[in-house]
Amino acid sequence: MRNWSIPAGRIFGVELRVHLTFFFLLIFVWLTESASHGPLSAGRGLALVGIIFGCVVLHELGHALVGRHAGVPAKAIILLPIGGVTLLDETQHSLEPGILTWKRDIRIALAGPLVNLLVAFAAGGILLAVAPEVQLWATPYVHSSNLPRSLVWSNAWLALFNLLPAYPMDGGRVLRALFSRRMDPVRATRRAVTIGQAFATLFMLAGMISISYIWLTLIGFFLFIAAQLEERSVVFQSVLETVRLEDIMLTDFATLSPADTLEDALEKAVHSLQDDFPVIRGSDMVGVISRQKILQALRAEGNGYVQSVMNRIFEVAQKKESLASAFRKLTARNLSIIPVVEDERLVGIVTLQNLMHSMALLAESRKLRKAALNP
Ligand SMILES: [Zn+2]
Repeated sequence: MRNWSIPAGRIFGVELRVHLTFFFLLIFVWLTESASHGPLSAGRGLALVGIIFGCVVLHELGHALVGRHAGVPAKAIILLPIGGVTLLDETQHSLEPGILTWKRDIRIALAGPLVNLLVAFAAGGILLAVAPEVQLWATPYVHSSNLPRSLVWSNAWLALFNLLPAYPMDGGRVLRALFSRRMDPVRATRRAVTIGQAFATLFMLAGMISISYIWLTLIGFFLFIAAQLEERSVVFQSVLETVRLEDIMLTDFATLSPADTLEDALEKAVHSLQDDFPVIRGSDMVGVISRQKILQALRAEGNGYVQSVMNRIFEVAQKKESLASAFRKLTARNLSIIPVVEDERLVGIVTLQNLMHSMALLAESRKLRKAALNP
C-alpha cells in the first residue's frame, strides 16, 4: 500500500501520503461533472471531494494522536479513494494479552469517529445559528451544490459508517477489543473478522439490488479483503509472539576463540553451515564474527587474530524470550546473530538465516497440524 502512494507533507509529526488511485477519483469527478454541468460545477465537485478528504484526514489524525499518546505511534496516514488508513508502528505494537490493552485499543478506535462527530456538531451548530439559509435538514444532504451542508453531513456519515461493528472498521475494532478481554488476541480477531465478513457480504448483496447502490458492493468487497488481510497479520504476529527462542535456537553450533588466527577460523567456517560465530573465551562470550568478515580481513590485511576483527557489540537474548523480541533486536541494530543465554551461560544461537528458516517451518507445521485437526 505504501509503494503506490506519494508523500503529501506532515501533520503533527505524522507522515501524510496520498495513494495514486486517489487521483483517479479526482479526474473521474472532474470529467463527469464538467461533462454534465460545466467547469464551474466541476470545481464545486472537486471542492466537495476536498472537504470529504479533509474530514477523513481529521478522522485518521484522531486515531494517530490518541495512538501516540497511548504508546503506539503512527508511521503514516495514507489517503485512499475509499477513505484513510493509519499505519501504526508495527515494531512497537506487539500483541500483548488483550487484558492489558483492550481499553487502549477502544480509545484509539473511537478517537476517529469522535473527531467527525465533534466537527459535525460544531459546524452544524454554527450554521444553524448564523446561516439558516443553508437549510441543514434539506436533502440531498451531501451534494456539491451546498458545500456547508455537505461538510456537516459527510462528517456525520463518516462517524456512523466507521462505527459499524464490521472489523476492520472502527466499530469492529471496539468489538475485537471487547472479545479480547476473555480470549487470546488471535481468537478475538477471528471472531471480529467473521462478524465483519458477514457485514461485508450483506453490503455486497444489498448493492446488487439496484445499479444505483452498486457502491455498496464495492464497499462490501473492500471490507471483505481488508478483514482477511488484518486476520493474517494478527496470526503471523501471534506465531512470533508465542514461539520461544529455546524452541528454535541452534544448540549444535561452532564457536571460535579470540586467540584463533583468521586462517584457523576460516578452516572451521568451511566445515560449518553457520554464517556467524560466537567468540568464546573460557565460558564468557566476548564477541561475534561472520564468515564474511573473516574473508574480508584475510583479503585486506592477511592473517591476524579473531580478537582484532570480531564485533564486540552484540545483543544477547534469554532462552524464554519470544521470536518477535529476537527479531526486533536483530533488525533494530542490524545484527545477524543473537547468542541465547541462560544464567549468563551460552546455550544456543539464533541467526537471521536460521530465524527465517524456522519461521517458514513453523508456519508449515501449523498448517499440517490444522489440516490433521480438520480433515
Ligand atoms: Zn477510523
